[in-house]
Amino acid sequence: MIGLSTLANTHKDVEQNYMKFFSLVIIFSFSSIVCAQQKQVCFSIDDLPVVSYGINDTSFQKDITAKLIASFTRNHIPTIGFVIVKKLFNDTLRSSFQVSLIEQWIDCGFDIGNHTYSHPDYNSVSLKEYTDDLLKGEVVIKEILARKGRHLKYYRHPYLHVGSTKLKADSLSDFLKQHGSTIAPVTIDTDDYLFALAYKRARVKNDTALYKRIGQDYLAYMEKKILFYEYQAQALFGRNIRQILLVHASWLNAEYMDSLALLYISRGYSFISMEKALEDSVYQTPVTVYGKWGISWLDRWALSCGKQSEFFKDDPDPPEYVLELTK
Ligand SMILES: [Zn+2]
Repeated sequence: MIGLSTLANTHKDVEQNYMKFFSLVIIFSFSSIVCAQQKQVCFSIDDLPVVSYGINDTSFQKDITAKLIASFTRNHIPTIGFVIVKKLFNDTLRSSFQVSLIEQWIDCGFDIGNHTYSHPDYNSVSLKEYTDDLLKGEVVIKEILARKGRHLKYYRHPYLHVGSTKLKADSLSDFLKQHGSTIAPVTIDTDDYLFALAYKRARVKNDTALYKRIGQDYLAYMEKKILFYEYQAQALFGRNIRQILLVHASWLNAEYMDSLALLYISRGYSFISMEKALEDSVYQTPVTVYGKWGISWLDRWALSCGKQSEFFKDDPDPPEYVLELTK
């Protein structure tokens, strides 16, 4: 027989269990809200080993590589680098120095992806020419990764040109799928390469005031870009998405990567890998509109759901003087 005290205890247990249940519901709901609002970004860096803009001496390339790797390590950014394989060759001979730069990335725990052999433009060549070049690059990267016990997974399109028509885009994505390559999209697409060229020219001229100005304006521009793509994600999906940033392996980024990391941290971001970024269901969003453009996937999704030029009007541009310096 169940006594009063037992009933009271049972009642208390039920009450406690309810409390626990509701606490869990509250915690779960709260963490769902936090998750939905959490800002996360994957940093990806293109055109490895180095975007040298004509400065090809080994000490310069070593320095750029060391600075980038040190900054990504210091800031706990699980970066992925995309290699232009032709840069690992002097004419037809493979350069052990250039290969060693790529090995440093792998040794420091970063992932490496294929960015083709010679960086062809898919808008200008056939699928056959394009995929031959892609495979020529892939063989070399696979071999470098295999020596370190690692596998190749990701592919990044040069110029973000994925195919200017549905047929051309589908042909390439089918090829990549059959080949076991995962496309590495980009949501935060910037003109960092224009700032980088202007910066290099100012550095070479030893114009300290100018290159510092370019660096500061670069950070201000990159901050506007973060806000612009956050706005796009909210407008299209009603939430923050796991963003993927593309920057290049340039002198500018080598000198400013700590500041760029800090900028993202100050905007509430944490850093994630490409794998983690692609777990976001947003990357299942279909693209149904095609063109010769090399644009953010957010722009592609916006165009695919019928957004007009008004939607893109606040996309920030580099300052005029930076554009002048690149001419
Ligand atoms: Zn590239």
